[in-house]
Amino acid sequence: MKTVTVPEYFGSKVFDDRVMKAMLAADVYRSLKQTIDEGKELDIGVANAVAAAMKDWAVGQGATHFTHWFQPLTGITAEKHDSFISPSPDGGVIMEFSGKELIKGEPDASSFPSGGLRATFEARGYTAWDPTSYAFIKGKTLCIPTAFCSYGGEALDKKTPLLRSMEALNRQALRILKLFGNDTAKRVVSSVGPEQEYFLITKEMYDSRPDLRFCGRTLFGAKPPKGQEMDDHYFGAIKPKVAAFMEELNDELWKLGIMAKTEHNEVAPAQHELAPIYTTTNVATDHNQLTMEIMQKVASKHGLVCLLHEKPFAGVNGSGKHNNWSIATDSGQNLLSPGDTPYENAQFLLFLCAVIKAVDDYQDLLRISVATAGNDHRLGANEAPPAVISMFVGDELNAVLEAIEKDAPYKGAEKTQMKLGVDVLPKFNRDTTDRNRTSPFAFTGNKFEFRMLGSSNSIACANIMLNSAVAESLRIYADRLEKAGDFETALHEMIKNTIKDHKRIIFNGNGYDGGWIKEATEGRGLLNYRTTPDCMPHLLDGKNVGMLTGLGVFTKAELESRCEIMLENYNKTVIIEANTMADMVKEDIEPAISSYAASLAKTVSLKKAAGDDIPCGYETSVLKKLSALCDGIMMKCDALEKAVLELADAGGTVELGYAIRDRLLPCMSELRVLVDEAETVTSKEYWPYPSYADILFSVR
Ligand code: ADP
Ligand code: MG
Repeated sequence: MKTVTVPEYFGSKVFDDRVMKAMLAADVYRSLKQTIDEGKELDIGVANAVAAAMKDWAVGQGATHFTHWFQPLTGITAEKHDSFISPSPDGGVIMEFSGKELIKGEPDASSFPSGGLRATFEARGYTAWDPTSYAFIKGKTLCIPTAFCSYGGEALDKKTPLLRSMEALNRQALRILKLFGNDTAKRVVSSVGPEQEYFLITKEMYDSRPDLRFCGRTLFGAKPPKGQEMDDHYFGAIKPKVAAFMEELNDELWKLGIMAKTEHNEVAPAQHELAPIYTTTNVATDHNQLTMEIMQKVASKHGLVCLLHEKPFAGVNGSGKHNNWSIATDSGQNLLSPGDTPYENAQFLLFLCAVIKAVDDYQDLLRISVATAGNDHRLGANEAPPAVISMFVGDELNAVLEAIEKDAPYKGAEKTQMKLGVDVLPKFNRDTTDRNRTSPFAFTGNKFEFRMLGSSNSIACANIMLNSAVAESLRIYADRLEKAGDFETALHEMIKNTIKDHKRIIFNGNGYDGGWIKEATEGRGLLNYRTTPDCMPHLLDGKNVGMLTGLGVFTKAELESRCEIMLENYNKTVIIEANTMADMVKEDIEPAISSYAASLAKTVSLKKAAGDDIPCGYETSVLKKLSALCDGIMMKCDALEKAVLELADAGGTVELGYAIRDRLLPCMSELRVLVDEAETVTSKEYWPYPSYADILFSVR
């Protein structure tokens, strides 16, 4: 039998350019391409022709339904399936799909969060086809990527503002390129390659832990005797079960045109990573959502569960997502790549400065874009970047920036005096030092790696803020440069001033170093928003609203609704965790400890009955310890339940967030400490849940 090779089935479930070209009439194809590449409006005749071809192709692949696939603010994707069938006069059916159905859908989506943008009685939002992301088949359904808006046109999803932010960046970057004499670039696009971390455990382990089932993370669990101390998992040999999972995952992703490229074991036991080859931000976002979904689906076929939570296990590395980001022209010129000529280098330095300024001016928005209850457990712990945002540029580039700021000669340059920075920039080698890896935002040669994203985050939010903040820097630069008399002098001054004004954000040291946080906050005045309630309300700060509405990425009402939804999500998540903890204690943990204590008491009394000279000091001391722990646990559990009830008086969403941060989370930590200690004292036979060691080493 002939084996089917990857190139033969790659993208087989995607209505991609190859299929379009083959199935559409030449004029229809040309028209559609213009819509995709240049954002030209699509006329209904073309839409009808595209819809018919899409339907024929999908039905030929066994599809029976279609759906407008969208990304509401829940952070996952949504779909409502409609079948293609339509009655025919002879009592049978035909498969139909019109241009109207392709372009616009009306999901009954009243239950998606809208943060007050939409009253329930006017619940219906609509979905609009995003032709820049290819349609694909999942199961028996043709999925059409769409944006989701209210009837008033307000965005109810993550894709709409993402597309708007890409457009803002495109507009401003083109202005800059024009100033450098580039009249041929038609578009500037941001691209992303997200590296996705996850855990794989057996379904058996997952099913026996209510905390994993309800919250996606363990709420209790004593430290295992062996964790990641030995660093023997990182890049280690992949176990057969995991290899089988990865093989099927790759196949599924490849069929969907997702370029899964690298996979390896991560630092923690049971932790792995998958990275695709980068693509445009919009498509990368769709693909990452699909990747997360398919990871979970494929895992379940293998008797496994894929955990995407940021911190499934305390004391063990959590999972993040590295957002590798760059901007390039439609002809493929990477604007973050140092060039060969002084002119190209000046342009590179300007774009670099735009990012430096953006990250410094909008530290808060970048922090907000990754803020969730889950990610709060990661940022600031000893494995992920701290909650303080800073930028790593490496020693070499740093020396160039310092030389420009001081008008001093740069050692690597041939000429002593530098205009426009340096005449010939050194080739920057990728800096892969340890210091680099601790940075939340690192320049890695020709792209930036934003490392604060949580593993379950949609990458849309981070990229909306990143694209917008950089577009804003470029807008300010373009405004000034377009008016400048002498372009080169103005450019030189602007680069110099940016470095002077924003160098506080550059930190090339070790981000995990305790001293850094003090220096960052006290010495440099950088922001340190440790939790979601700390940062989220700042989404509505005047400067942030001004920038985001000014660029047309959000309206004020959309921002207010998002702030509300994100905080509500935080509040609900933690309350569910608190309730789950209390249930676990009352239903399983206390009874287990009591049974074990009873068996100890029985042993003591039996021994005593058997003779005064039989020692039972050990059992007695364990019994005492457990009894005291159990009392403590039940008191803390009561306190926790009371704290949950008292939240009712907290006030609005923001105040509720503060109350959860200040009152509920401390109660949860205190309860956990006692329970984890009880776990180490209680016989394994009695403990109701698999231990960390059982779970982390469950997959072979
Ligand atoms: P690592 O960071 O693990 O050393 P790489 O830097 O090779 O690995 O790649 C990480 C991710 O960055 C991949 O998804 C890759 O496709 C992506 N990437 C590489 N170049 C670019 C670029 N110019 N723009 C955006 N992403 C990129
Ligand atoms: Mg990386």
